[in-house]
Amino acid sequence: MLSYRHGFHAGNHADVLKHWACVLMAEYMGKKGKPFWYVDTHSGAGVYSLNSEESLKTGESKQGIERLWGTALPDVFDSYLEIIKQLNKSDQLKLYPGSPWFVAQCLEKQDRARLFELHPQDYKLLNRNFGGDRSIKVEQADGFSGLKAILPPPTKRALVVIDPPYEQPKEYDLVVDNIKQSLKRFATGVYVVWYPLINRNNKQNASEKMVSKLKQLGAKSTLEVNFWVSGKDEEAGMYGSGLFILNPPWNLEGQLKEGLPSLVEHLGQTNKAGFNLEYKELS
Ligand code: SAM
Repeated sequence: MLSYRHGFHAGNHADVLKHWACVLMAEYMGKKGKPFWYVDTHSGAGVYSLNSEESLKTGESKQGIERLWGTALPDVFDSYLEIIKQLNKSDQLKLYPGSPWFVAQCLEKQDRARLFELHPQDYKLLNRNFGGDRSIKVEQADGFSGLKAILPPPTKRALVVIDPPYEQPKEYDLVVDNIKQSLKRFATGVYVVWYPLINRNNKQNASEKMVSKLKQLGAKSTLEVNFWVSGKDEEAGMYGSGLFILNPPWNLEGQLKEGLPSLVEHLGQTNKAGFNLEYKELS
């Protein structure tokens, strides 16, 4: 059952955190001058209209990118914002990119992207957005098995983004299992897992359980970042989101520390908005 469509959520506060961090990581990978692969296991459509019926129905981008647009932000947001401006070909915000679009703008000639998307309509859109580019391979296939099949990449360097809809509870375990297998095949990859922070009556939720399992997988270093726009007890649904990154670029923690206070300032909905960052290295 595939009922999730990212068009309803594009540009919300969770997208801002995820896409900003993805751009920072892709830029870092590119700066080294050596080729790398970008793998997006759950790509979505790649580009979204903020005036679509879906987007207007939820209004989520109004609480996300639209609150940041036109405000003064630290330099660490420059590349993220510039990619959105270039897509819109102006300062007017009508379109919002998805993860594959953001990262594709950071790729050099020698880099490659492998994009997986199962939903027939989003696959069609994704293929239309990237189909003509020979360095980007778009597949209508399960991203979990797709990832297993292509690791390790010939470049021996890769940025892997795993961003499932978590429509089914089993997806949390699938992520853990997938990362476990992936680390066996390719221990040095940069793996980014997105997850929602959801209020479930203060019970330990599925995201927290997943993150604690991911911490046990033995990656050399990990970075956990959580950003919430209101307190856990103030919001019935998703009050924030997080990223768990295995083998993060060394400078990412500092960059996120520099920018997160601005996200709290502009996207926070109550005075309980906040963030935390936790970096760990295997000794
Ligand atoms: N990563 C995208 C972004 O940031 O722009 C958003 C992705 S959205 C949260 C999740 C996507 O995964 C949906 O488009 C959904 O159709 C797709 N999907 C669900 N299960 C999948 C699977 N097993 N393999 C590949 N894609 C899947």
